[in-house]
Amino acid sequence: MQIGVIGAGAAGLTAAYRLTQAGHRVTVFEALPYVGGRTHSAHFGPGHHLDTGAGWLTSAYTQTLRLFEEVGEKGRLRPIHASGPSELVVEGRSFIGAGLPRTAAGDHLIPPDERERLRNWLHWLDGYPPLGFRTFNDNETAEQHIEAVGPAAAKYLFAPMFEGLFAPLAEQSAEFLRSWIAASRATYYQVEDGMDAPWKRIATHLDVRVNTAVEMIRQSGQKLEVVANSLSLAFDGLVVAVPPPAGNQFVTRAIEPRWVAQLNYEQVRYSGQCRLYLAMPGDAPARIHRRPLPMGPIASVEWQSSADGAWGSCPPGWQWALICANEAHNDRLNPLPDFEVTTRLYQAASKIVPELPPLDTWKVKHLVRWKHAVPVMPPGHFTRLANYARRPPIVFAGDWTHQACVEGAVRSGEAAAEAFGPG
Ligand SMILES: Cc1cc2nc3c(=O)[nH]c(=O)nc-3n(C[C@H](O)[C@H](O)[C@H](O)COP(=O)(O)OP(=O)(O)OC[C@H]3O[C@@H](n4cnc5c(N)ncnc54)[C@H](O)[C@@H]3O)c2cc1C
Repeated sequence: MQIGVIGAGAAGLTAAYRLTQAGHRVTVFEALPYVGGRTHSAHFGPGHHLDTGAGWLTSAYTQTLRLFEEVGEKGRLRPIHASGPSELVVEGRSFIGAGLPRTAAGDHLIPPDERERLRNWLHWLDGYPPLGFRTFNDNETAEQHIEAVGPAAAKYLFAPMFEGLFAPLAEQSAEFLRSWIAASRATYYQVEDGMDAPWKRIATHLDVRVNTAVEMIRQSGQKLEVVANSLSLAFDGLVVAVPPPAGNQFVTRAIEPRWVAQLNYEQVRYSGQCRLYLAMPGDAPARIHRRPLPMGPIASVEWQSSADGAWGSCPPGWQWALICANEAHNDRLNPLPDFEVTTRLYQAASKIVPELPPLDTWKVKHLVRWKHAVPVMPPGHFTRLANYARRPPIVFAGDWTHQACVEGAVRSGEAAAEAFGPG
């Protein structure tokens, strides 16, 4: 079959690669000038890059690792000690990695009875499969689920971890929180030369049209027409691998009403993300990773030496800082011009870390803005997904159809390809 794949992120490229292996003729359409989607890296010079989206992979990402192995890219993986959304971190202390969180003065933030319940909950989570999706208690929000642990744990552990990049706990599925924590108990990897390097390699095996934003898809007899850059190309089947808020612009109800309703397609929400990366030559400061308490406009501030890089790689003898806006704050930041966002992020961060060198002293200043950063998986989302039968001619893929991570995107791409069978 002749198959069109819309979107050259991890989901679309995986689908296209597997479809090609199965004997189909595949064309990939990508709106941007480059492939990789949210695994993009910005490059600033030799040995210096920033992973602007996904910053790490884990040993729980079995399908991603298998795919990288197949294409000869597994050797690029470097084990790291990841911090940030991968851990429950409070005032520089990692709960999962280094024990119970305390204030800077050394007092426990979580009272003894809650600590006991938290321990029991984490034991209960032992052996919980990290990246499948289950419909167990899927109508429950994350907030309801952790109510049983206690309010201090919710405030000091779960909210800082889950609300910064994702969404308020009251809007997330409990299953999303459980499986994310289960996935955190793994070895973390960074990708040498940037998170997008393996995807660039995979794209070399494929017919990818970059700078080609799909404007419309429509039915034409037995074929599906894809309209992009004023050209119209006909296909037997399509994989739509873009976040629904982007897909809504060209996917019309007229073609496949069944999945629009079944998947709640038009309502799928993505959180935004603004982050400011700063770097300059200099002696390494102490590692800082803090979250304001209570949650403010900034979700996290990191300031580290080159050797500790978790979101990219700095030249030796450099230091870098990464300031991430809180998810709730992105809506306020997004309409503002770059200069304004940069200044606001920096000012908010320097209230938390006053030692941060002045903004104009950093040699590299790079503002990252994701309009559609991470899918918000509300209660009921996984039940809807479990009921979604991927049936050609149009099949959906993307992190929102599986899990909000690279592995979720890869698995969704493989499932989409499988739905088409052999070519
Ligand atoms: C800041 C941030 C940090 C993250 N951290 C991690 C992490 O550490 N680990 C992890 O596993 N995951 C992380 N993620 C999530 C991970 O990056 C995503 O889940 C995954 O990359 C999504 O892949 P995808 O293929 O579903 O979507 P995307 O990568 O978004 O791909 C969709 C593609 O479709 C293209 N497109 C859109 N509209 C059109 C159109 N009309 N025509 C043609 N093409 C179009 C887009 O340009 C894009 O390239 C992070 C994401 C962000 C934003």
